Amino acid sequence: MALDSKIPSGPIEKKWEKAKADQKLVNPANKRKFNIIVVGTGLAGGAAAASLGEMGYNVKAFAYQDSARRAHSIAAQGGINAAKNYQNDGDSVFRLFYDTIKGGDFRAREANVYRLAEVSANIIDQCVAQGVPFAREYGGTLANRSFGGAQVSRTFYARGQTGQQLLLGAYSALMRQVGAGQVKMYPRHEMVDVVVVDGRARGIVTRNMTTGAIESHVADCVVLATGGYGNVFYLSTNAKGCNATAIWRAHRRGAFFANPCYTQIHPTCIPRSGEYQSKLTLMSESLRNDGRIWVPKKPGDKRPPEQIPEDERDYYLERIYPSYGNLAPRDISSRQAKYRCDEGRGVGPGGLGVYLDFSESIKRLGKKTIAERYGNLFEMYDRITGENPYEVPMRIYPAVHYTMGGLWVDYNLMSNLTGLFVGGEANFSDHGANRLGASALMQGLADGYFVLPYTVSNYLGQGGLGKVDTGHQAFKDAEKEAKERYDKFLKMNGKRSVDSFHRELGDLLWNNVGMARSEKSLQEALSKIPAIRDEFHKNLRVLGAGNELNQELEKAGRVADFLELAELLAWDALQRNESCGGHFRVEYATPDGEAQRNDAEYAYAAAWEWKGPGQPWNLNKEPLTFETVHLATRSYK
Ligand SMILES: Cc1cc2nc3c(=O)[nH]c(=O)nc-3n(C[C@H](O)[C@H](O)[C@H](O)COP(=O)(O)OP(=O)(O)OC[C@H]3O[C@@H](n4cnc5c(N)ncnc54)[C@H](O)[C@@H]3O)c2cc1C
Repeated sequence: MALDSKIPSGPIEKKWEKAKADQKLVNPANKRKFNIIVVGTGLAGGAAAASLGEMGYNVKAFAYQDSARRAHSIAAQGGINAAKNYQNDGDSVFRLFYDTIKGGDFRAREANVYRLAEVSANIIDQCVAQGVPFAREYGGTLANRSFGGAQVSRTFYARGQTGQQLLLGAYSALMRQVGAGQVKMYPRHEMVDVVVVDGRARGIVTRNMTTGAIESHVADCVVLATGGYGNVFYLSTNAKGCNATAIWRAHRRGAFFANPCYTQIHPTCIPRSGEYQSKLTLMSESLRNDGRIWVPKKPGDKRPPEQIPEDERDYYLERIYPSYGNLAPRDISSRQAKYRCDEGRGVGPGGLGVYLDFSESIKRLGKKTIAERYGNLFEMYDRITGENPYEVPMRIYPAVHYTMGGLWVDYNLMSNLTGLFVGGEANFSDHGANRLGASALMQGLADGYFVLPYTVSNYLGQGGLGKVDTGHQAFKDAEKEAKERYDKFLKMNGKRSVDSFHRELGDLLWNNVGMARSEKSLQEALSKIPAIRDEFHKNLRVLGAGNELNQELEKAGRVADFLELAELLAWDALQRNESCGGHFRVEYATPDGEAQRNDAEYAYAAAWEWKGPGQPWNLNKEPLTFETVHLATRSYK
């Protein structure tokens, strides 16, 4: 099927202006006649629901947490990018656009990325107006720091709690609309299906997580802003609740899933410490502004770090990438850490770690300055590892962090399923094969505050939406399917817990579809995933009942979806016979171990079409053309 990305014509810097000028408007008196469902109240969904409510639409906002304030966006630490050029260091909309296209290894759509860079400056103004306490210089102007893949300082931050502060801003805007009666909140409601009527998304089915009630909600269109699916790997830096169910259920109803194999492995996470660990912790990339990454030069060197003299240390990122040094992009930094550990030069238990050392910057700037910049991160590290990073270097290792893949969307952020919009980490996004640090918050808020309000309005303004209510057979069928699904989990009465399947799947994915993938490892994953899934559907044990709070039951639904998504992830990685960004196929590497793209055959977004349980997916390709930033081999040296 030919995918229409609906990119406006004209020069790249005029496209968004043109789209806005050409859009259909809904007059203020008519706005209140439209109902919009927004699933997800993190930065993308919270911003979208607040903005659409402010515009006068009736919005129903859903989240599985008890409050919008607990969305996973709250975990974001380091910062948010914007092309403000406050540092006068040569930044511009074009440079942010260029860095993002290059950072994504030329696998993102140019027009979307340009728009992202263009609206980035508005985000900062909006958040400052909301009272977000960004860090400031002594004179009162907003401060910036650097993040990976950029040679300018364009990252705005609030200590190591940027996501939390931005979310409080979006939450205030959202609550204002709740108070005004424009937004109705449905916390503790998990969306378990999308309902399609006459080819358009017209509602959702939810499970009330407190009572177990399965309920239908109808609307004129549906926005999904349900976050990323990194937890398919079981261990990741994501909050435990993050899952793929909303987008996966939409996929099963016809929305294409794009680039599922593009997973970001973040280089600076606290190494795994045991078999039964259920979560990994990120140490923000911002730490690489002042921390230096190194390993001993000698393999097997077990001396404590302070006993290893300077000339016996290998500051490998500074050595290999002198231009970007410790701020090389995440995919590259992660791979280099893996190479060092594979050479036997890793540190800490099992040799799966590298040092992130602040001694030099503490000497240069003083402990107080370092504490001001990263105090909460240092404290977090100390509490988890029992080691004081002011005195000994942190130990870090790459871990699954972010998913660039997600539901395919056109320029208007609408999926191929008419009336289904997707924002934030849930869509296949603007980050290509690798997201640059501090760009997810930017994208989520760009989608929520500045893109969806226009494009959703444009859709509603086009009319053609007949009257539908929850008595429609499509709602009845979706409710029935949802009930049967949960009943089946409860009745199975097998022998294994949900977590045991999830952990098994995660280990298989990390080992075979993780930082390095090969045809052999992917074939192995593809032969084993269906067997795990079959056993899950025969031998699962879920205790408790369906009409009460039951976290095992919630997890069962999510892991069932992960077990299908995992297979697609491996297929996607197998068909992409190239390395690009976070997708590293060992067969396609340059002699010095860098990713080797194949632009002639793979410069496309892979949009997979669900064909039914147990059936092979159909691959649709959206060709990517690069008219403004010419295809080139990425170099950070
Ligand atoms: C530890 C960590 C640190 C990070 N730091 C940074 C950073 O410094 N800078 C940066 O740019 N990015 C950072 N990121 C990435 C960034 O935080 C996320 O990509 C971004 O916040 C995602 O926002 P979102 O609105 O798309 O999704 P989320 O914030 O994950 O929100 C998802 C929402 O969807 C709801 N939801 C999901 N499924 C369902 C369902 N089935 N039914 C009902 N509701 C549902 C949830 O309840 C929630 O409200 C970090 C990520 C992590 C893990």
